[in-house]
Amino acid sequence: MSRPVAIIWGIGGQDGAYLARLLLEKGYRVHGTSRATGVPVNLRRLGIAEDIALHAVDPTDAPRVGEAIAAAAPDEIYYLASQSSVGRSFAEPEATFAGAALGLLNVLEAARHKAPAAALLNAASGDCFGETATAATETTRFAPRSPYAAAKCSAHLLIEANRVAYGQRVCSAFLFPHESPLRPDSFVIGKLMAAIRRFAAGDRAPLELGDLGVVRDWGWAPDFVAAMWAMLQRGTPEDLILATGTSMRLEDFVAAAFAAIGLNWRDHVQCVAGLHRPADIAQQRANPSRAAKLIGWRPSVAGEELPKLLVAQALSQAA
Ligand code: NDP
Repeated sequence: MSRPVAIIWGIGGQDGAYLARLLLEKGYRVHGTSRATGVPVNLRRLGIAEDIALHAVDPTDAPRVGEAIAAAAPDEIYYLASQSSVGRSFAEPEATFAGAALGLLNVLEAARHKAPAAALLNAASGDCFGETATAATETTRFAPRSPYAAAKCSAHLLIEANRVAYGQRVCSAFLFPHESPLRPDSFVIGKLMAAIRRFAAGDRAPLELGDLGVVRDWGWAPDFVAAMWAMLQRGTPEDLILATGTSMRLEDFVAAAFAAIGLNWRDHVQCVAGLHRPADIAQQRANPSRAAKLIGWRPSVAGEELPKLLVAQALSQAA
């Protein structure tokens, strides 16, 4: 039997690298894209750099997108490329929108003409639902509060339109935050883990963070890419929320991480008003029960287990 073929847009990111590793383990031939030439560092970190067919292409460049899809001839397409920082999207709304929405449009068009049987998953975001003091489900109304969230809503509307207009086998995963050692320190949990490594090594310069009162549902990135794969194994892929179902305050996440190295966070963290955003989501809660029902997905890590796991990984990296 011939090996299934997948192409991952944004393969050098956190999720792209973990997904590539998972697909290789499952026997796929894996193609991946990056806007840069050269091998993305995360593929080297996971030891899979030699196993990927890389394409240097910006998803906003429609002709090059068509060439990459035609060359890969994929059975499955994962669209993960995007400027993925909510905070940065306020400073770079155009680039954020272009990567998340225009890039997806180009890939959908290329898939329609050059790989019509391929199934496609778009990485949407829990931020599409805005404030979710009551846990979001797949039917919760969109209420974006950032250029990032608005771009992800637009991208999802393209998914809906192409499903109706052309019968394409396409879906969105509404991803709530998920972390790993590959998360850069431009994200709050990556920044926290960089500080934990520093503190463990004896550097006690204070860690500056923004609003510690925000509530989020944080999960473990390898669990999330397993769900992405499972979503595309259904004959008719459906949009699903991917989250753990357990939310916590950032303050509690920070406290658990510091406790794991025997420190009291209050002695080492400073809250800095300048790090607040023009608009933020105070509470994010999600109900992933439909993913449990349709694809049997149950995340392996949730709540306070996650800071403990991340700290253990951060310290083993530092060793
Ligand atoms: P990363 O930021 O780690 O990776 C995304 C990749 O997209 C980058 O490696 C980069 O690849 C590419 N990219 C960056 N900016 C642009 C741009 N302006 N235009 C086109 N491509 C760009 O993200 P994650 O792996 O963490 O997330 C994967 C997807 O899931 C993203 O779409 C993200 O928005 C979404 N998501 C992630 C969440 C999370 O908690 N991780 C939560 C919700 C949604 P290169 O520079 O090589 O081209």
